[in-house]
Amino acid sequence: MERILVSACLMGRAVRFDGRAKPTDHEIFLRWRDEGRLIPFCPEVVGGLPVPRPPAEIEDARGARAVLEGRARIRTPEGRDVTAFFLAGARAALHAALDQGVRLAVLKENSPSCGVHRVFDGSFTGTRTPGPGLTTLLLQDHGIDVFTEDELPQARKRLAELEAAEA
Ligand code: SF4
Repeated sequence: MERILVSACLMGRAVRFDGRAKPTDHEIFLRWRDEGRLIPFCPEVVGGLPVPRPPAEIEDARGARAVLEGRARIRTPEGRDVTAFFLAGARAALHAALDQGVRLAVLKENSPSCGVHRVFDGSFTGTRTPGPGLTTLLLQDHGIDVFTEDELPQARKRLAELEAAEA
């Protein structure tokens, strides 16, 4: 059975920076959960950050690629550099995915770790900028398809393609 890495907060785990979860009750997601396909993972907690924790954003809208290449940092509103935690979490997520043969992930949009199409821009004003989060980028770099919680039909289609190719 094809397994799917998912943001732990989407599974109802209270691991977000504000101490809350962000559960989804979409029927596709719930079916996958009941089938035992889902592997919940929170890169920020696994990377060593507490719950709750200060928010953090990629500085100056410079993007996750710049962070991976050491050209940008991830900071809290007070300017504390938390990049090392985010990098550790992203690498741990990749390791978990590769270890379990994961080829598909559903991650939480807008997060500096899990965002897929957008992340906050580093101004802490709620402004978003195009581009993936750090974990998403690392997974994509290793051939894993990543969808947001709003793209479950597309993720289901991809899952069907992967399973058909295996049949
Ligand atoms: Fe959810 Fe990802 Fe943020 Fe963890 S790092 S709380 S899994 S969005």
